[in-house]
Amino acid sequence: MRQLHLPINDLTMSVMSDLAFQQCMAPDCGAAYGLDVVLYACRRCGALLDIRYDWSRCTVPKSLSFFESRWPTPGRSPEARADFSGVWRFRELLPFESIEKLVTIGEGRTLLQQADELAKKLGVKPGCLYLQYEGFNPSGSFKDNGMAAAFTMARRLGRSRIGCASTGNTSASMAMYARHTPSSNGHSMQAVVFVGGDKIAFGKLAQALDFGAKTIQIDGDFDQCMKLVQEAADRLGLYLMNSVNPFRIEGQKTIMYRVLEGLGWEVPDWVIVPGGNLGNTSAFGKAFIELRELGLLKRIPRMAVINAVGANTLYELHEREKIRFDNGRWDRTRVEAWYARMSAEGRRAKTVASAIEIGRPVNLPRALRSLEAMDGVVRQVSDEAILDGKALVGAYGYGCEPASGASIAGLRLLLEERAISPSDRVVCILTGHQLKDPDVTVNYHRGSRDGTGAGSYANPPVRCAADIEAIAKLLDT
Ligand SMILES: *Cc1c(COP(=O)(O)O)cnc(C)c1O
Ligand SMILES: [Zn+2]
Repeated sequence: MRQLHLPINDLTMSVMSDLAFQQCMAPDCGAAYGLDVVLYACRRCGALLDIRYDWSRCTVPKSLSFFESRWPTPGRSPEARADFSGVWRFRELLPFESIEKLVTIGEGRTLLQQADELAKKLGVKPGCLYLQYEGFNPSGSFKDNGMAAAFTMARRLGRSRIGCASTGNTSASMAMYARHTPSSNGHSMQAVVFVGGDKIAFGKLAQALDFGAKTIQIDGDFDQCMKLVQEAADRLGLYLMNSVNPFRIEGQKTIMYRVLEGLGWEVPDWVIVPGGNLGNTSAFGKAFIELRELGLLKRIPRMAVINAVGANTLYELHEREKIRFDNGRWDRTRVEAWYARMSAEGRRAKTVASAIEIGRPVNLPRALRSLEAMDGVVRQVSDEAILDGKALVGAYGYGCEPASGASIAGLRLLLEERAISPSDRVVCILTGHQLKDPDVTVNYHRGSRDGTGAGSYANPPVRCAADIEAIAKLLDT
């Protein structure tokens, strides 16, 4: 059984007096750092960091049903504000800051939806398909869950300049939270966003611009932006808000708590999530590993991570190269060789689902750990399948952005493979709001101007004369 427990060494000892600390995820290192040390990787070995808690000294509820009692109460007290947040409602499970200092703008107020009509269409039994629509967050994507936690930390650290590389939603979310989080000098934080060329969906760019983020368009793709922003963090003192920041992962754990809550604390058979930079993949695994460690859950659901065919690094590494987390001893040489081939062949990520158009996911090791803990699988789906998945979600009344359609496309594929059976209980995560990328949606339904055809579930607008008889005729046919 995979545990987060790592050996205690000299470095660990010095911070063990803290309830929460940062720890290198490599088991043969396990170096620990205080929360106030700004780091995105271990100083000693370069591995990613986890936020860890000394649970024995935290107040953890004895049962998950404790959280049901915590419904929002009116008022502006720290408790009222925290209870309104779908992240901080679960604060005992990410206890790194005191309640008066938590940053929230009302994120995570999302509700698991039972989707029987869609289930029927897909050949899943009624009562077995659920959608977790994270598009209902303040900035319209799940990223807000992570930002609430990361901004809480940024404020604690007194950072006034924050940055991210973004395919769009990270920048929209970060820019929004920056406006709501005063830094230590009393002004709001300066948000700096790196986006790749002209790839960003307009709904997302519009948000970053409107919220006043300094938006830098780089001649390059997301992977180049990611590298640059990491350099900028080192050289220019930007506090990094991408999901390498371990506090992002803490906030995003709560998506799983809400899923469980929606199921009356019963564990589903499968969680299906699109994979981009793999922050969610990492967070979901960590959430379940911890719940099991805490004795709050006995069983862990399986996870399916869905890549786009044009951005399928995790699929290639996990399913073809068979790279496994292997207790932190995953085969770095083979991963590096794979990346070297990708560079040599000039391969770049390319998919219509811009939010998952990522070739070098920064959270790869954390994601491998989650896949191991959740007995996970990775699949790749075509852009066409992604758009059809998105259209089906829309047709049954929820709506989502293209990347989220990968969850549905992945479910269809796994049903076809019989890896998922029609009576399995499945939760598909819908990561972003329907209105983020309207160009793609309208082109799908109408056929695009450059003449490419409309999608299989297209609902094109129809032209009609401005005449009531003509309209009557049209509606009769
Ligand atoms: C960021 C994002 C993703 C990718 O999530 P990761 O956690 O980076 O894998 C998927 N869908 C949407 C809508 C996103 O904004
Ligand atoms: Zn280390």
